[in-house]
Amino acid sequence: MSFRPETRTVHPPLPHPGNTPLGVPIYQAGQFSFDSADRLAAAFGDPDGDFFYSRYSNPTVQALEEAVTDLEGGVAGRAFASGMGAISAVLLGLVSSGDHVIAQRRLYGGTHAVLTDLARRWGVEVTLVSGDDPDEVREALRPTTRLLYLETIANPTTHVADLPALISADASGGVVSVVDNTFASPILCRPIEHGADVVVHSATKFLGGHADIVGGVAVFASAELHRRVWDYSVEQGATTDPFAAWLTLRGMQTLALRMERQCANALVLAERLADHPAVARVYYPDLPDHPDYATARRLLSAGGGVLAFDLAGGREAGRAFIEAVRLAALTPSLGDVKTLVLHPASTSHGQLDAEALAAAGIGAGMVRIAVGIEHPEDLWGDIEQALATSA
Ligand SMILES: *Cc1c(COP(=O)(O)O)cnc(C)c1O
Repeated sequence: MSFRPETRTVHPPLPHPGNTPLGVPIYQAGQFSFDSADRLAAAFGDPDGDFFYSRYSNPTVQALEEAVTDLEGGVAGRAFASGMGAISAVLLGLVSSGDHVIAQRRLYGGTHAVLTDLARRWGVEVTLVSGDDPDEVREALRPTTRLLYLETIANPTTHVADLPALISADASGGVVSVVDNTFASPILCRPIEHGADVVVHSATKFLGGHADIVGGVAVFASAELHRRVWDYSVEQGATTDPFAAWLTLRGMQTLALRMERQCANALVLAERLADHPAVARVYYPDLPDHPDYATARRLLSAGGGVLAFDLAGGREAGRAFIEAVRLAALTPSLGDVKTLVLHPASTSHGQLDAEALAAAGIGAGMVRIAVGIEHPEDLWGDIEQALATSA
């Protein structure tokens, strides 16, 4: 058939590369065409079916889902437009009104907001526990308890959850345990190995690693849980874009290397900060005086890329410090190749009053450092000069 230019412009020939590309191609495609009506009909509503519409599935996005699922040791995964997209899809996909949820009190702010909303507007009952004591979880269990929500390493105090002890507090095994593993990454800890049913990530942080995407991934230990969240996620529509998925995959190729360097840098900085006269206390799981040091040694292969410290000078010193750093960036994120600093009391936790801050274990003079991959001596030089001006 020979077509006119108007037709040929929208039907260009597609490439047929003879060899396999070394990297994952970006399938920047919203839709896929079929030559069989039956195959198209079968693709609808099947997580493992043919690609037909990228809100349901897309080859580049699926490559990301499979990569994170493989690292976490799950059976299936789902990528989202953000970490909150993953977290809200998991919560809304697995919980109904009248159900009861147990969550640790030290939670990422967005997760706390979703749980508060579920309690206030959707008739879900929520019990917050310290996350330090399996007996507290055991006592909170009710016949209607459906979900236990934990974080491997909590922000910004770097508390480490004793995942196997907390998850096995539900002797029935019927409560779905969900673990936010953003701070640890699957390089340091794989919660499914410790009994978790679902792992969620903000891929914006360590997985992506280069401050160029917002993304999220959920990984499931069972096909049944994946199916329930997949069904809800198709309705929710917070699916990720192929290019963001590709950038995440590209970032993930150096995840283990970045993590190794970030953890090594963080340990150097944590040890030096602990010896500095302007610093009252350092929070880093790989320091022997950390309250969860033993748990961290058992569950994490290193201390992580985030540390926090209390400045003896309180709120003013904390604010002055984050403005005094020159190399580190004042940015509310973590897991980046660049070092980022934050003063939680005036930013991420700024809505909390003094009492609520104290309950969350956050001092007015606390500074969080999300350590990057720069040379540790350059980072220490920057921190030292900032401590000298702010203390
Ligand atoms: C950033 C973050 C989230 C939310 O992820 P977004 O990608 O910003 O939506 C959830 N949990 C933790 C622990 C985070 O650090």
